[in-house]
Amino acid sequence: MEQNNEVPKVIFMLQDREPARLLAISPHLDDAVLSVGAGVAKAARDGVKVTVYTVFAGTASPPYSPLAEQMHEVWGLAPDDDAPLHRRKEDAAALGHLGADYRHGRFLDSIYRKSPDGRWLTDRVTGPKQDDQRTGIDPDLVAEIKEDIKSAIEECDPTLVVTCAAVGGNRDHVTARNAALFAARDKNVPIRLWEDLPYALFRKGSAVELPEGFGLGSPKFHPVGTEVRTRKFQAVAEYPSQLAMLDGPERNLCARLEEYSRKTSPGHEYGERTWSVVRAGDPINP
Ligand SMILES: [Zn+2]
Repeated sequence: MEQNNEVPKVIFMLQDREPARLLAISPHLDDAVLSVGAGVAKAARDGVKVTVYTVFAGTASPPYSPLAEQMHEVWGLAPDDDAPLHRRKEDAAALGHLGADYRHGRFLDSIYRKSPDGRWLTDRVTGPKQDDQRTGIDPDLVAEIKEDIKSAIEECDPTLVVTCAAVGGNRDHVTARNAALFAARDKNVPIRLWEDLPYALFRKGSAVELPEGFGLGSPKFHPVGTEVRTRKFQAVAEYPSQLAMLDGPERNLCARLEEYSRKTSPGHEYGERTWSVVRAGDPINP
């Protein structure tokens, strides 16, 4: 057998043993691949059954908000296109490339949602640079999503759940993360939080605030070799609609992800970062 110098026993996301089944809860159709695509690729390669459940993947009925129509155009679609359908196909291709299964949730992206007074929830362009959406989390929506995630947990029987830390405070990310935290607690499954990329690149020192009863544990950096990194970047390329917004000659998304990782990792290498979660009443984690 060929010698592998990549330290094969450094297993994704776990301190001492490999998860047999991994369930990733992604807020939007691209977040998991952008943030932990390398971890997903490595886990799948090592024989872990990986499923990525994307919460805000539902198709909205027209008419759409002016912002949604504007975003559709930015993504290279017609204003009245079924953009989530288009994006679900991108996601299936990306996750297929990583060797992961997918589930698409029924919930609507915030650009398609209305507030109780009937006005569009979001009326201006949001993106990684926006950092002001931490207020206004709808507890009823969190509760609904929690139930769907619990069903996904029942179906996939994961030994580990991962979701975003919601670095940057995007409303949908906070909502999905809180729902995942509550669902994993109800089902007594361990959970870790990933560093939201590319949001973390634009972060202006904002701290991650978890709901009451949960605390952010210690961070762990998961280095990967060139092969896995390349596979992640190939999967990222399967989201052309989102790359129209996140990438381009000026932005060089993957180069910036690489640069950020090398700058912030202990060994100046490529990889991804996750945190453990400390739950009130849990024994102290090592
Ligand atoms: Zn997102």
